[in-house]
Amino acid sequence: SKAKLFDEKTDVKITFKDVAGLEGAKEEVQEIVEFLKNPEKYTTLGGKIPKGALLVGPPGTGKTLLAKAVAGEAKVPFFSLSGSDFVEMFVGVGASRVRDLFKQAKDKSPAIIFIDEIDAVGRARGKNNFSGSNDERENTLNQLLTEMDGFGTNTHVIVLAATNRADVLDKALMRAGRFDRQIYVDLPDIRERKEIFEVHLKPLKKVDGLDIDFLAKQTPGFSGADIANVCNEAALIAARNNKTAVDKQDFLDAVDRIVGGLEKKNKIVT
Ligand code: ATP
Repeated sequence: SKAKLFDEKTDVKITFKDVAGLEGAKEEVQEIVEFLKNPEKYTTLGGKIPKGALLVGPPGTGKTLLAKAVAGEAKVPFFSLSGSDFVEMFVGVGASRVRDLFKQAKDKSPAIIFIDEIDAVGRARGKNNFSGSNDERENTLNQLLTEMDGFGTNTHVIVLAATNRADVLDKALMRAGRFDRQIYVDLPDIRERKEIFEVHLKPLKKVDGLDIDFLAKQTPGFSGADIANVCNEAALIAARNNKTAVDKQDFLDAVDRIVGGLEKKNKIVT
């Protein structure tokens, strides 16, 4: 049977309230939500709805979450795939799968297509990579550009793509009418970390009066994904110690554990 190319979700429950912080990015994608909800309103004077936007920022900062929230807010289907999946695919099918994806999204438009790790497929053409599948990658990239250029003004599909390496992307991707908008999704500051903690603490049984400012202060450099991890880990640590509520010490232990993990990861890279 054919390996699955992309994932399709028609009833996305995630909305902006699930995305903590990122006020600027949310404001920018709010416009995309408006376009998707009411495309005719925007095209009536001859304007063209943007086809794509690039979400740029470090890993785990909420790019996928934000893209899903756009679909959830606009109540449109969410088609997603990862650029790295393309690169691993059998030779000769990348381009045809891109075609399939766009056809399905167009059939269900208005819709969002989300491409995670677009740098895997969208690196500047003509540069070597080590997987030896450069032609295949370039064919896939070319097909992606062709599809985006081929959208008529009445195709209400918006392509969001995420990367943490905007610098390596082929400039052709950023040309007008393609991913001509860049939206920055940065690591959270202390105030944003507090908001992210609030989101991820909500489902936990915790002691009364837990000091969330303190937790935000203890986690400089943490991404949203790291904070989600801390909250989950703290709940597991508390449970292991037969507690009935997660307390401050459990969070500190969880932070230590995550910091340890991050240090190990960095050691492998450098
Ligand atoms: P990557 O570049 O690694 O794909 P990403 O930027 O797409 O990462 P997400 O996959 O969206 O990051 O984030 C992973 C998880 O971290 C989310 O599902 C969520 O639980 C949590 N998270 C990240 N950022 C936020 C945020 N701003 N608010 C709330 N939760 C967040």
